[in-house]
Amino acid sequence: MKIVTAVTVRVPAKLNLQLAVGPRRADGYHDLVTVFHAVSLFDEITAKPASRDGVAVSGEGADRVPADRDNLALRAVAALRAVLPGAPKVHITITKRIPVAAGLAGGSADAAAALVACNELWDGGLGQPQLLEIAARVGSDVAFALLGGTAVGRGRGERLTPALAPATQYHWVLAFADGQLSTPEVYAALDRLRAARADGAAGLFPAVPTLDTGLMSALRSGDARLVGRALSNDLQPAALSLFPALRKTLAAGLELGALGALVSGSGPTCVFLAASADRALDLAASLSGAGVCRSVARASGPVPGAAVVSAAR
Ligand code: ATP
Repeated sequence: MKIVTAVTVRVPAKLNLQLAVGPRRADGYHDLVTVFHAVSLFDEITAKPASRDGVAVSGEGADRVPADRDNLALRAVAALRAVLPGAPKVHITITKRIPVAAGLAGGSADAAAALVACNELWDGGLGQPQLLEIAARVGSDVAFALLGGTAVGRGRGERLTPALAPATQYHWVLAFADGQLSTPEVYAALDRLRAARADGAAGLFPAVPTLDTGLMSALRSGDARLVGRALSNDLQPAALSLFPALRKTLAAGLELGALGALVSGSGPTCVFLAASADRALDLAASLSGAGVCRSVARASGPVPGAAVVSAAR
């Protein structure tokens, strides 16, 4: 058997086609029902044997990513080592293309990629069910980054059911904002908005978030027009309250012919569904000319989750 000396894994960003948020629980978390969708905007990580665990980050937003044990990729390494005791030390190199704190779960993606890379590097032999369990312990979006595709997430997003849908490719335009939003702050803003609307009274909001059957049948039909109309995000009003400029971005994309628009997760990235690859190209060019965001990217989905792209021996 040849020893593996370096493993490179590619891992996608996620969008939430639906994000339904229940009330704040006693432990501070919110129950969610979400429809995750993996898109072709990838981080890449490489794992190599080393004398001590470490991480180096380059690329988009690298200066805002911790290069120590707080990095989610190293937390994933520690969680995997707990299951594979005695596994050797490892150095992780991350090349970021997924913007940081943008509502695209880039940190979770790197954690998922680290699990896949180290399982291969260490010849750990763990299958996807075991990796999914470890992923759920590392963070709520990590399991989905392993799975990819389109999937319904429940609980904190870690209990996943793949969505059965035709092999339609959707064409997205992502508008990256000049600024970031912290996920806990967006949830806190949602709690405040809901408390104000309910005027302190309980019971005005569903205790249990529910899956949008309209979105699921749109996905089963493979009709991008129907999917565009069914996109929804309970966190959007909260994100807009903290980042009002996003209203202009969303409105511009819709005026320019997007089939649907929404804030991705906790934001501030805005995502637009286009009718075709050509329409996405036009929309991306017009949006970037409209001066309503920092930069624009195109991506298609669904794409598979974290996968080994090379293993050097
Ligand atoms: P969420 O998954 O909560 O929606 P997000 O997609 O908005 O988050 P991330 O890019 O995952 O945002 O970053 C969230 C925070 O995690 C950042 O403040 C960042 O410092 C920290 N972080 C830790 N490790 C990483 C990593 N490998 N890549 C990006 N951010 C990381």
